[in-house]
Amino acid sequence: MSATKVETFLESALTGRPIGADRAAPPNVTPVNASLMRTTIGPLLLMISTPILMLVLWMSARYHGGSLLDFALAGPDIWLQHVPKPTGTAVAIIVGWFIVQGMLLQWLPGKRFLGPVTPAGVQPEYKLNGVLAWFITHVGLFGVAWPLGLLDPGKLYDHFGSVLITLCVSAFVFCIFLSWKGRNYPTAPDNVLTGYPLLDFFQGPELHPRLFGVNLKQLINCRVSMMGWSCIAICLAVTQYQRNGTVSTSMVAGVTVLVVYLFKFFWWESGYFTSLDIMHDRFGYYICWGVLVWVPSAYEIPFLYLVEHPIQWSIPVAAAMVAFGVLSIWINYDADAQRQRVRATNGQTKIWGKDPEMIRAQYTTADGQKRESLLLVSGWWGVARHFHYVPEIALAAAWTVPAGFSHLLPWFYVIFLTILLTDRSVRDDRRCAAKYGESWNEYKKRVPYRIVPYVF
Ligand code: NDP
Repeated sequence: MSATKVETFLESALTGRPIGADRAAPPNVTPVNASLMRTTIGPLLLMISTPILMLVLWMSARYHGGSLLDFALAGPDIWLQHVPKPTGTAVAIIVGWFIVQGMLLQWLPGKRFLGPVTPAGVQPEYKLNGVLAWFITHVGLFGVAWPLGLLDPGKLYDHFGSVLITLCVSAFVFCIFLSWKGRNYPTAPDNVLTGYPLLDFFQGPELHPRLFGVNLKQLINCRVSMMGWSCIAICLAVTQYQRNGTVSTSMVAGVTVLVVYLFKFFWWESGYFTSLDIMHDRFGYYICWGVLVWVPSAYEIPFLYLVEHPIQWSIPVAAAMVAFGVLSIWINYDADAQRQRVRATNGQTKIWGKDPEMIRAQYTTADGQKRESLLLVSGWWGVARHFHYVPEIALAAAWTVPAGFSHLLPWFYVIFLTILLTDRSVRDDRRCAAKYGESWNEYKKRVPYRIVPYVF
């Protein structure tokens, strides 16, 4: 192959665009008018504190019985002793997982789905084969590989610290690569820089980067992270079983709610492509490091805790908790579905048995085109502007209550999620106000509360 051909091949692999396609322009530097706190200090503090917090959470759960106080009192010598180290096994687990999920995404059949048009007028493409990938992953791991003795899912617990630290370092390096790729080999003309290096690294330059033709947000957010979240929780239930000869009813209840939630995620994967993470957040440290490291470290804590602290419930109590969790999942899903259905049918649908109440909101894209979106004002979107965050928090509580109330640690995710979603509702309000102007003000008049009616 000549040097030019190699260069063309590499460029196509890095941008994810077919050989010969026009190259996207380098990112525009669009200076943001924001404080030093938002552009530099905030991102820096988050990038320093999140890996430390990840270690604190892991060590408290693994070595201090779930007690943050016990961890704090242990002192630096013990902390250093317990800091996990990257291992070859951890690398093999991570690389194996990436390869399997990448192959399932690329090779399993699935409909092509075009996501919402970006501000630069680009329509990202996805492959809808999540449910099939979910079945193959779960059945393959727990129904075939485990019974045949090819893999022992219960052993993940012993390697989990090493997996987390390996992920932490490698995800950071990968974010550096994403930043370089976005500046030099962007996939589409959606790449934007703010001129503040830390903010640009934190939020990432590209909206929908592709590599070797693979949509990185779909691979990493959905298949590597969300699929991993479900499988890790089941692995931890297997560990509890191997250690105690049985799985406690509270573990079964918690894992069931989580697995139903994540199965719904894949069943509704196209809906996720219209969420803020995908539509608006760029693919940098915040999203990429977050889904690769923060999800397994912070979101698995209730199950991690339960491995060594089994709690036995009566069957009716466990069943009631599953029912509560599934109801919350359904309400959250129904709210998401209402919003999407109204837009997909241009309002020709029923919301709670009636014609939907809507606002036709005009906006202008970055390339100056006038467009229109429907804002639903009835159904769940008439209760509050982000009422669906209430069942999102409730369903997380449903898989946390099984870990009991004796320690704060298992509740970390619920507390974190409450703060995250409250902040998200504020950010989203701000973004929608800038996008829709007067129409958003009208929506706010008709639906005055952000999340909880009469409270917030
Ligand atoms: P939302 O579902 O809140 O959607 C917000 C977007 O919807 C807005 O930016 C706007 O986009 C559009 N919109 C706003 N109001 C209306 C309306 N009245 N009618 C129609 N469209 C409207 O996005 P999220 O990404 O926050 O949530 C998606 C799902 O993910 C939810 O189920 C949420 O609970 C879940 N989630 C889970 C998290 C977790 O860690 N477990 C974290 C965050 C979310 P546009 O520009 O298109 O108008």
